[in-house]
Amino acid sequence: MSRLDSAIRRLNAQKLTLEAAVASVAGLKGPVLEIGLGNGRTYDHLRETAPDRDIWVFDRQVAAHPDCIPPEDRMILGDVRETLADMARRIGGETALAHLDIGTGEKASSMALAESLAPLIAALMRPGGVLVSDQPVTGQGFAPIALPEGVAEGRIHLYRFSG
Ligand code: SAM
Repeated sequence: MSRLDSAIRRLNAQKLTLEAAVASVAGLKGPVLEIGLGNGRTYDHLRETAPDRDIWVFDRQVAAHPDCIPPEDRMILGDVRETLADMARRIGGETALAHLDIGTGEKASSMALAESLAPLIAALMRPGGVLVSDQPVTGQGFAPIALPEGVAEGRIHLYRFSG
């Protein structure tokens, strides 16, 4: 598969899975967490797909497209290993949907980072909420659920939080 095909499949998997996640929490109150703003592509899609949700966004810095910069009071700057822990003290366990997208291209360190963030994200989740993740996570109350049709296993990960 060419790198172009691979990029298209990855972005399509993100889009379909985020849309499925938003639909699956339609009856659940709570904010969205976008962990990894990057250039703001998925943040932009989440705010368009879930316009009534409060969206908290995390990254080390703001390097997004100018049209995709979150409001200042919803942009949490710093290392997510610290800012997510602070967030649990601020908003507690009310999150309906978390999107973890912190991959750097270095597989082992990205997977280790995701595993280390899983308990911090769990502390922010409402039971019944969902986590969309670019890396697999294990335990912490996150059980894998079916990906939308057309998304290949392992391309992205979708979990329901049981509490
Ligand atoms: N979701 C974005 C989009 O659609 O444009 C792409 C996110 S990009 C793949 C990953 C982002 O995670 C980068 O902007 C990087 O700065 C951020 N990141 C990675 N590790 C981090 C950490 N420990 N703390 C804060 N941000 C981190």
